[in-house]
Amino acid sequence: MATTVTHEQQHPARSLSRHTVVSVIVPCYNEAPVLNGLRERLQAAMNAWGTDFEVILVDDGSQDATWDMIRQFHRQDPRWHGIRLSRNYGHQTALWAGLEAARGDVVAVLDADLQDPPEALGDFLWRWQQGYDVVYAIRHNRKENPLLRAAYHIFYRVLAFLAEIDIPLDAGDFCVMDRRVVEAMRLTREQEPFIRGLRAWVGFRQVGCPYVRAARVAGASKYTLRKLVRLATSGVFSFSVRPLRLAVWLGFAVSLLSAVGVIFYFVQRLFPEAFARAGFPLVPGFATIIIALLFLGGTQLICLGILGEYVGRIFENVKGRPRFIASETTDAEASP
Ligand code: UDP
Ligand code: MG
Repeated sequence: MATTVTHEQQHPARSLSRHTVVSVIVPCYNEAPVLNGLRERLQAAMNAWGTDFEVILVDDGSQDATWDMIRQFHRQDPRWHGIRLSRNYGHQTALWAGLEAARGDVVAVLDADLQDPPEALGDFLWRWQQGYDVVYAIRHNRKENPLLRAAYHIFYRVLAFLAEIDIPLDAGDFCVMDRRVVEAMRLTREQEPFIRGLRAWVGFRQVGCPYVRAARVAGASKYTLRKLVRLATSGVFSFSVRPLRLAVWLGFAVSLLSAVGVIFYFVQRLFPEAFARAGFPLVPGFATIIIALLFLGGTQLICLGILGEYVGRIFENVKGRPRFIASETTDAEASP
């Protein structure tokens, strides 16, 4: 008799109990207006799981009352921890600081502004119990301006085309990860971590869960255009050498084009009358030269730029600096 083995049998299901520790990491940059709301909703969601938990709020060099509020949360409930980075390092690095501090059996990641609903984590944890090591959210419906939405849409498709690993489409950082995945990610050494890329890179059993991304509850987006572009380039250039290959192809294409031009002008020289009758009179080709010059110059600069991205990354990485410096933690404050 043939037996079929289901996934659930191959991968023993896990269970959540009050001994399971869930770490929740929240990077916060000037998020004072949303923190109270976050605490309320996150605490309610966590109570529903019936597990032990730790919340790690990473203050990414905020200038507002964010750190004072985090310290106050810690005083009221020591399971709410805070790490204060020495300056603004950016969302991905702040998240990383949280990953390094997390001690839980399961690690959840969400934004402070409640765009990622904490209630959805319950579903993610349920998937984790079924044996999935990474449960990531797939943004179904973004409540953001259409231009930004279109930009995100294109970025994820370009990244999918370029990247040498499968980075799921429209998946952000909102997720739940098994402790093994976090430990595997910690082995990577990139200076500028692209979390959703590294998370895909480490493998294990992964599954996406669609959800509707809400609008920010208060305050303005902390992702400036510059930060977004930086995130996008770090996604592309840290996970692909295809742009380098693209540069080579571009070089070939341009050379081929100029070869065709050379032949054209050579033949035109031989049969000027015939060409003139066909509408191509022989004129001193000022425009042709300028166009060729601009085209070649542009292509060369693009290729140099692509090389520069990689050389810059090599430079950043050989320096071997720590990814971030923490200036304070709530726990150090509690035990001097
Ligand atoms: N964030 C951060 N450092 C930064 C920028 C953003 O820690 O330099 C945090 C921010 O506090 C929030 C999350 O990253 O919790 C996502 O940022 P935001 O909501 O501003 O980005 P958006 O949702 O608009 O892409
Ligand atoms: Mg947001």
